[in-house]
Amino acid sequence: MPEGLEAEIWRRSLDRLVGSTITDVWADGRSADPGVSSMLPGSLITRIDRLGKVVLIATDGPTVGLHFGMTGRVEVHGVAPIEQLEYASGRDLAEWDRLRVWVDDVSTSEPPALRLNDPRRLGKVSIDPDLTHLGVDVFAIDRSSMERATQSRRSPIKSLLLDQSAIAGIGNLCADEVLWWSGIAPQRPANSLTHTERAALVTAIRRRMPIMLRRGGSTMGMLSPDVRSAAGPCQRDGAALERSKVGGRTAVWCPDHQH
Ligand SMILES: [Zn+2]
Repeated sequence: MPEGLEAEIWRRSLDRLVGSTITDVWADGRSADPGVSSMLPGSLITRIDRLGKVVLIATDGPTVGLHFGMTGRVEVHGVAPIEQLEYASGRDLAEWDRLRVWVDDVSTSEPPALRLNDPRRLGKVSIDPDLTHLGVDVFAIDRSSMERATQSRRSPIKSLLLDQSAIAGIGNLCADEVLWWSGIAPQRPANSLTHTERAALVTAIRRRMPIMLRRGGSTMGMLSPDVRSAAGPCQRDGAALERSKVGGRTAVWCPDHQH
C-alpha cells in the first residue's frame, strides 16, 4: 500500500497546482465526503501539505484530504508521478477513479489536473480532515520523538513503526527496511530498545527515507519486492532472510545481523 514516501512524491507533484483555481470537480460519492464536488469549485489552491500518508490540498475555502488506502494513486495533468506501484493492479480503469479535479484553463475534455484512481476503494477524499490522531511525521522524526513514541510501549518495534498514531507515514516495506539498516529485529518490544538502538533507528529513517524518495518510492530499498519474495540472501552478510508474522504483517528480516 502507498506509504508516506509515495504520498510525499505525490505532494511534490501536486505542488504545481498551487495558485490555480479549481473549476470543476467530479467525485465518487462512495469515496468522497459530501461537499467535495460542490464546495471546491471556485476555490484557490494555496498550499499542498502532507502528514504521514495523507496529502492535504489547502484552498482559500476547505482543505481536501487525499487518503490512499491500499491501492490509491495520483495522476497530475495525465501523468503518473509513480508509474507503477508494486502492489497495485497493472490496469488503470476510469471506473476506478474516485476524484477528478480540473483547474483554470484545463477544459473538462482534457485530463484532469488531479486524478485519484483507487481500484480497491479503501482510500477516501475528505473535507477538512481531523488529523489530530496522527503521530510525528516520518520525515520529522528525531531522537526525542522516537523516545516518546517507544517508551512504555511493549508492542513489537515493527508494529509501533506501523502505528500511525505513534509515527505517521511508515508502511510495511519502509518499516522492514529501516529495521534492517539499524540491525534491530522486528519482534523486539519497543520499550526494550537501548538509547543507542533508538539512535540507530532514527538515523536509518533519516538517511534511508530520502534515498528511497529519490529512487521513486518505498519499493526501492535494500529489501526490494524481489528480495522479499525470494527471502534473501541478506545483502550485508549473506544470511537467509526470514519471513515472520509480526503484528499480523509479514516482516522480512535477517536473523544474523538484526537482534
Ligand atoms: Zn544480515
